[in-house]
Amino acid sequence: MDFDLSEELEALQTSVRRLAQDKVKPRARAIDKDGTYPQDVFEAFRDAGLLGLCLPTEYGGSGAGILGLAIAIEEVAKYSNSAALMLLLTRLPTGPVMIAGTEAQKARYLPGIADGSLRAAFGLSEPQAGSDVMGMRTKGVPEGGAGSGWVLNGTKCWMSGVREADWYTVFAKTSGDPASRSHDSITAFIVEREWDGVEVGRTDHKMGVKGVDTGELLLNEVHVPAENVIGEVGGFRLAMLGLNAMRPIVAARGIGLAEGALMYATEYVQQRAAFGKTIADFQGIQWEIAKCAVDIEAARLLTYRSAVMADRGQYTKEFVPYLSMAKYHATELAVRASSLAVQLLGAAGYMEDHPTEQWYRDAKQLTIVEGTSQVQLGLIARGVLDRDLWWD
Ligand SMILES: Cc1cc2nc3c(=O)[nH]c(=O)nc-3n(C[C@H](O)[C@H](O)[C@H](O)COP(=O)(O)OP(=O)(O)OC[C@H]3O[C@@H](n4cnc5c(N)ncnc54)[C@H](O)[C@@H]3O)c2cc1C
Repeated sequence: MDFDLSEELEALQTSVRRLAQDKVKPRARAIDKDGTYPQDVFEAFRDAGLLGLCLPTEYGGSGAGILGLAIAIEEVAKYSNSAALMLLLTRLPTGPVMIAGTEAQKARYLPGIADGSLRAAFGLSEPQAGSDVMGMRTKGVPEGGAGSGWVLNGTKCWMSGVREADWYTVFAKTSGDPASRSHDSITAFIVEREWDGVEVGRTDHKMGVKGVDTGELLLNEVHVPAENVIGEVGGFRLAMLGLNAMRPIVAARGIGLAEGALMYATEYVQQRAAFGKTIADFQGIQWEIAKCAVDIEAARLLTYRSAVMADRGQYTKEFVPYLSMAKYHATELAVRASSLAVQLLGAAGYMEDHPTEQWYRDAKQLTIVEGTSQVQLGLIARGVLDRDLWWD
């Protein structure tokens, strides 16, 4: 067991920390206020080679893996969860392609993500099917005989980065029975934005993470060639494997946000005078800071361990509790830490003069996306009940 980062990862952490301070921090409030996609930040990430962090070197990436991406996201999320989400989107839609895609799919769709010439998004959720993925209604119907393509119809919703994406990883029911709850009834496809019948629908008005849009993808008689099926037809397990491997990356958005919030609030209470002292001199305040610091370090350990596991390919069922634990703990921490930061600043923390109110709004997204906290708790409990997580 070694708790130190490798030299390469430490260098990555240092360089992204600097980039986040120089390019993300000064833009964070404006990104939130304008609610427009920060192309300049995307280009800064591209120029620093961060868009290919978790992509293999043979497809133009740097092979830093999920741990490398998590470390970068942690740094960026100290200031802006919109910017952190931009980095996350280099992995969420590409994950299924990396796990089960063909060589041709990887060669066509991955290098553009690494060099910033292509963007992608991930379409699993539907208006009536979020946690209950099997309730999806998007339908894929074979066009002709075996080996011919598919026709997709349906609506995906709440899709992050839907407007900027050039291609989408989309899941559809392919068993013929839209009511089927059988796991082999769902298949993953790569769908290109420019194809006939692919349209971006309404985009959402959100309470936070406003720099990256979230919205609908409308699929109307979209013809998808057979070679754009990811993995096997009926390979729903792929969606779960992809999401399992994502847990440390979402967790990193939470720990970064919590670190940013606690550091900011600590600096504030050290200079804010009250009752002839500073606020930081009160033991009650110190204990809150201490509890949050413990929480952050615990979440970092869970997150880094789960990232190492995911990089080893340990994202199948028996590892789920460890991965889900990181996501659950780190994202709930983000909510607690940002709430504490607002509280420690008092009225100032509630006002737009300080970033605390933004962190508070941004944090809440994290306990909902990619499996809510309740869904993670269910997965952790299942792991204990099945003895995947046992201490004997
Ligand atoms: C900002 C944002 C960005 C998003 N980006 C994407 C994206 O890029 N791609 C994508 O596919 N989706 C995306 N989503 C959707 C997200 O994945 C879903 O919101 C999430 O899976 C929860 O689904 P739901 O909103 O339908 O909630 P529901 O499933 O309706 O759940 C509502 C409540 O019930 C609880 N609940 C549900 N089932 C259970 C259960 N079995 N046990 C206990 N409690 C339960 C939930 O925890 C939650 O508290 C995004 C969402 C947001 C808010």
